[in-house]
Amino acid sequence: MSILVVGSVAFDTVETPFGKAEKVLGGSASFFSVAASFFVPVNLVGVVGTDFGDKERGAFVGRDIDLTGLETVEGKTFHWGGKYSFDLNSRDTLFTDLNVFATFKPKIPAAYRQSQQVFLGNIDPVLQRGVLDQVEKPELVACDTMNFWISGQPEELKRTLARVDVLLINDAEARQLSGEWNLVKAARAIRGMGPKTLVVKKGEHGVVMFTEAGAFAAPAYPLEDVFDPTGAGDTFAGGFLGYLAAAQHRDEETLRRAVVMGSTLASFNVEAFSLDRLLTLTRKEIDERFRLFKRLTHFETLG
Ligand code: AMP
Repeated sequence: MSILVVGSVAFDTVETPFGKAEKVLGGSASFFSVAASFFVPVNLVGVVGTDFGDKERGAFVGRDIDLTGLETVEGKTFHWGGKYSFDLNSRDTLFTDLNVFATFKPKIPAAYRQSQQVFLGNIDPVLQRGVLDQVEKPELVACDTMNFWISGQPEELKRTLARVDVLLINDAEARQLSGEWNLVKAARAIRGMGPKTLVVKKGEHGVVMFTEAGAFAAPAYPLEDVFDPTGAGDTFAGGFLGYLAAAQHRDEETLRRAVVMGSTLASFNVEAFSLDRLLTLTRKEIDERFRLFKRLTHFETLG
């Protein structure tokens, strides 16, 4: 049992009200892989430039992350810059230097083609479909996307979504994709496009999952120090899918636990810049916070 992830491996330059980090390791596939590798082996497909050194690669070493699919090509690694305002809920993208990512055409190594679980990070929906065409018979396909593709390539995105089981997007994206303001109506419309499980991320307000059984909501873990929200969504996805893959079940109760596991991993990631907190994290710390989540949301009805 292993997960195939395709997405960005990047340098991020991030400014928050609490500090600035220059050219640190980022990218959707990086956050996802490290989070998911706490549960199952991960096969990473992405591209970096010749400036991506041993220091950055070191983040993946010693973990259950296979880098056969991480191509190095002549040129510079994708570099993204973002700045957060004081409430950390809104972020401005300062620059997106695609560099070697501009011509990225994911090539799935032969050894990965029988992957049972696939996570399509936020890339061109045509490329996302190209990945699915190279995988034999995935049992679970999960996908992320963003406003850029929803408005720029709506028809291509819909063709991809028809082949997706789990879609993870934020609330603004869910509204944009469905054309519905109300999230319940939006979820119904999106589930009709293909993904039977929709996870709507709402930043510090947590997530809502929509399935056949209805809605399930989990708060974000209340933290005193939130330092940098970059990658929270991808880290959530890694925890969520990693947990599901390891559980080998997809019933409603397992899906709910996976949502809380995703939220648990994301809550650690926001405590530091880049992947810094994920890289020191232990399975024991994860399990402890997962248990605290139950206390956070548990209540009894009166009779
Ligand atoms: P998130 O905070 O979950 O939206 O993910 C942030 C990560 O996405 C950063 O580490 C960036 O390097 C990466 N990223 C930003 N823009 C893009 C893009 N257009 N395509 C792929 N990855 C991106």
